[in-house]
Amino acid sequence: MFLGFALITAIVGKLSFLFCAITFLIFLVIFWIFRKINLKIASNFQVEYEKLEEKINLLSQDICEKKKISILLPEKSKKIESLFEVSHELVELYNFQEIFDFLLKSLCWLFPSAENIMLFALHKNSLSLELSFKKEEYVIKEKCGDIIEKWLLKHNQSLIIDDLFKDFRFDCNKIAAFRERKIRSLIASPISVGDTLLGTVRVEHKMPSSFSFDDSRLLRDMCDLTAVVLERAALFAKAEELAIRDSLTFLFVKGHFYKRVEEELKRAEYKKSNLGIIMIDIDDFKKINDTYGHIVGDIVLKRLSAVLIETVGPTGDIIARFGGEEFVVALIECDKERLIKVAQNIHSNVELAKIGFRRKTINFTVSLGAVLYPEDGLELNGLVNRADQCLYKAKKEGKNKVCFTWQ
Ligand code: GH3
Ligand code: MG
Ligand code: MG
Repeated sequence: MFLGFALITAIVGKLSFLFCAITFLIFLVIFWIFRKINLKIASNFQVEYEKLEEKINLLSQDICEKKKISILLPEKSKKIESLFEVSHELVELYNFQEIFDFLLKSLCWLFPSAENIMLFALHKNSLSLELSFKKEEYVIKEKCGDIIEKWLLKHNQSLIIDDLFKDFRFDCNKIAAFRERKIRSLIASPISVGDTLLGTVRVEHKMPSSFSFDDSRLLRDMCDLTAVVLERAALFAKAEELAIRDSLTFLFVKGHFYKRVEEELKRAEYKKSNLGIIMIDIDDFKKINDTYGHIVGDIVLKRLSAVLIETVGPTGDIIARFGGEEFVVALIECDKERLIKVAQNIHSNVELAKIGFRRKTINFTVSLGAVLYPEDGLELNGLVNRADQCLYKAKKEGKNKVCFTWQ
């Protein structure tokens, strides 16, 4: 019995030891699993945390940039508004001088701290200083531009120089702006429409880094707008010129002659000066047409125009084709002596003018009638009628001669 009891006790002891060992093992496994889960959760949290930190960094960077933009925004919108205002006025202009004046005025307003502003116009492949604004009494020596303008014309691009002293593209000692006016920074732009260059603009400052890329863009926008307006003005001037010129001889047409001489008569009245009018008609022109053809007739008309231009000279006098083979010359501030001299010179120079045609030489002659303001009349119509009467007299008296009212 004792032995049975001892056996049972031993078995129970072993079993409880086994139970304890198993319980301990289970506990260890649970602990291990729990720790693993914990570690997993912790690492997930770490990743989430890092992601959030990255997001916070990006957002704060974004906020910083937006803050900067919000500071610049009022300035930018002010510039856009200014450009809008300027463009409204600029598109109303059709006269070259007015356009350049307005451009300079606008640039002075858009870049109030600028030291100098220079506008160059391109005429027949050479630049010339058209207008300038100077804060101090400088003598601008770059009347035809310098390497800055050459660069603009070559690249047809705007230019920003932060510091002339440090810029690797240009030798500052070769730039008068740096050498003589102590200029350190500048923005410059060509005035161009596509590949067509019309001029250049330069805005200078004494301090380095005085202009931003926005300033450079604003200048370019102004120049682009000006270029379009200038080109339109050129087309307008060409159309106007074509309307007042005769297509064959390129002399003024009758309508423009009347308009211009009316103005000159008012001036002569105010200045108490004289004005001469000479009517010129080719003799037997119909015969020239009938004998040699209309093409030769046209050559004769062109030749007479050239003789008139050469004889009258490059003064302010007005030469026009009155119609058909009739021409008229108005001599401004002309006394009786000059009127006689010019009329006789036209007569003799026409006699000397020869036209070669199929190994033949064609000569032609003219009859002329000349009058003088104010002694032969005060009104233009009256003066032209009297000159026509003199011309008629010359024709009646055998052609190829000059007649005056006093003869
Ligand atoms: P007169 O000496 O009296 O002036 O005689 P005319 O033959 O010069 O004058 P007329 O009025 O009889 O003839 C003028 C001619 O000029 C008639 C016309 O065909 C010609 N004519 C007018 N315009 C042109 C033109 O643009 N080209 C050419 N080739 N002929 C023209
Ligand atoms: Mg005639
Ligand atoms: Mg005639």
